[in-house]
Amino acid sequence: MIDPFGRRITYLRVSVTDRCDLRCVYCMAEDMTFLPKAEILSLEELERLCGAFIRLGVRKIRLTGGEPLVRRNIMSLINTLGREVADGALDELTLTTNGTQLSKHAAGLAAAGVRRINVSLDTLDAAKFKAITRWGDMAKVLDGLAAAKDAGLAVKINTVALKGVNEDEFDRLVEWCGAQGFDLTFIETMPMGDVDGDRTDQYLPLSLVRHHLAQRWTLTDSDHRTGGPARYVDVAETGRRIGFITPMTHNFCESCNRVRITCTGTLYMCLGQDDAADLRAPLRASEGDETLARAIEAAIARKPQGHDFIIDRRHNKPTIARHMNVTGG
Ligand code: SAM
Ligand code: SF4
Repeated sequence: MIDPFGRRITYLRVSVTDRCDLRCVYCMAEDMTFLPKAEILSLEELERLCGAFIRLGVRKIRLTGGEPLVRRNIMSLINTLGREVADGALDELTLTTNGTQLSKHAAGLAAAGVRRINVSLDTLDAAKFKAITRWGDMAKVLDGLAAAKDAGLAVKINTVALKGVNEDEFDRLVEWCGAQGFDLTFIETMPMGDVDGDRTDQYLPLSLVRHHLAQRWTLTDSDHRTGGPARYVDVAETGRRIGFITPMTHNFCESCNRVRITCTGTLYMCLGQDDAADLRAPLRASEGDETLARAIEAAIARKPQGHDFIIDRRHNKPTIARHMNVTGG
């Protein structure tokens, strides 16, 4: 699959559920209304959909959500996709998780062929964790991370940089990740979905984060790429990498190789644009995958050149109305 701007689409992110056991303040409102179950693709339908993308040239799949590990029987989908990795049809199967269920699933993930995972953790302070996630228990995530390490999974921590919330902890996070053997990526807040607070208060440009870190750590630009939008630096003192994902201040669209599907089978060609294609209807229209494959190709043919995120400071409205848990991070 090659889009109109010559970019080869090889990376599929799949949101397997819009549900979550946490309510991070930048991601969800406290009283989120989740989708009716009937609208959500079954695990068998998700399998067929992923299979169709793999046959069209996708080499890497990331499962996300909502929280992927709260979806009932999610391990059956993970095991099926893991077999595609074992057969060489897929280079990588990975997931982004909040870590609360990792104690239970880490060994199963490793056995299925998952080699690395992203775990979201914005703070190392239990009280702050509870405040950011509205009720989460940080100890569960730390136990989950220990289980991931024991299972041999490589871990990257994703930390959303939040002004006035966790900015005093960045050095500690770098140190802790170094000691644990985890990589660390900072993410700028993106204006997606109506949440309860004021976005302009949360936004912290990563250029400032990097500037702050450079006072304490020796940072060197790195050529490392994971096929994602992060740009990396090496940290001499810890021997680990730090990534920066800066949708607001840096345009990473030129090298975009990915598309996203929601748990209802809607294909978004760009995280920051509203254009989408419904794949649930072609998926359910026939048992063969021909109609589905044509619908995917037609959608890729209109993948836009790039996004245009802006926090509207006058109206304080998100530029993209759907929540992050719908499209997946
Ligand atoms: N529940 C899983 C988790 O938290 O890792 C997977 C889904 S979550 C939507 C994926 C990533 O998106 C997380 O790292 C989260 O911190 C990030 N995220 C959510 N809302 C965001 C926002 N408004 N701006 C930037 N990142 C956001
Ligand atoms: Fe749940 Fe992840 Fe969103 Fe937090 S960021 S509410 S863990 S989906």
